[in-house]
Amino acid sequence: MADASAAPEVRYETDEPVTYNVVDNVAWVMMNRVQYNNAQNSQMTYAIDAAFKRAVDDENVRAIVLGGEGKHFSAGHDIGTPGRDVSKSFDRVHLLPDHVGKKGAEFLYTREQEVYLGMCRRWRDMPKPTIAMVQGACIAGGLMLAWVCDLIVASDDAFFQDPVAKMMGIPGVEYFAHGYELPTRVAKEFLLLGERMPADRAYNFGMVNKVVPREELREAVTAMAAKLAAQQQLGLWLTKQAVNHVDELRGKRAAMDAVFHMHHFAHAQNDLTTGHSLGGVTGKSAAASNKSSEKDG
Ligand code: ZN
Repeated sequence: MADASAAPEVRYETDEPVTYNVVDNVAWVMMNRVQYNNAQNSQMTYAIDAAFKRAVDDENVRAIVLGGEGKHFSAGHDIGTPGRDVSKSFDRVHLLPDHVGKKGAEFLYTREQEVYLGMCRRWRDMPKPTIAMVQGACIAGGLMLAWVCDLIVASDDAFFQDPVAKMMGIPGVEYFAHGYELPTRVAKEFLLLGERMPADRAYNFGMVNKVVPREELREAVTAMAAKLAAQQQLGLWLTKQAVNHVDELRGKRAAMDAVFHMHHFAHAQNDLTTGHSLGGVTGKSAAASNKSSEKDG
């Protein structure tokens, strides 16, 4: 129960963890915790959700871009900044109870249903076409954000990584799309070794739609979004639903539900054996171990 009871005071470094701008019928939703490489706390998650809601509600918005300001798309879920707010209550967007005050494994199980699995499914199913614009690091929770988008455009310096199994003994991030985004053997390698996958390798498996030089990233995304914005909107909605439905027929939802429970068994096991649901991993220790493993590899 380290997560719930330790509850350090939350200090947000910004009131605007996400910026929202509409340009030429395209909504640009940009993560804006540059100082922390866009680590995702609940403040940011709910701000992304609010931005998507705004984009869906606005008749003039015909395509949505999700990106991150600064050097990196996203370093993942916030596991150690002063703005880490896992023990804070928010108005839920799903019919779920508040996780705050829940005892034992129920705390994280309830929270992650809402802010990770629930949010990602909700975002994947938005009726408007979405593009993830990825530069630099796209790690763990960052992967979830890229994967829920319909298309992914990456810069040549981007890399993808899920080090959760390697570092925490947990079978990957909460939105378990690995086996749908990558061929089986590659998904296993990605999870078991937890190494960085460069954008060009991800492109080879079709996980990324386009790789461009860093300085051309925004331009490439703008051009792709303009094409989507020019198309018949209902047709795009039906088309993305059609492909998503094929994934469902391949068992995506059921697989994710099954793995979500393994994920929480592993959180609970960590808590029972180390007193910490992440197995003692903090933002600092994660960054250090990632650095040293990249040197080895
Ligand atoms: Zn988790």
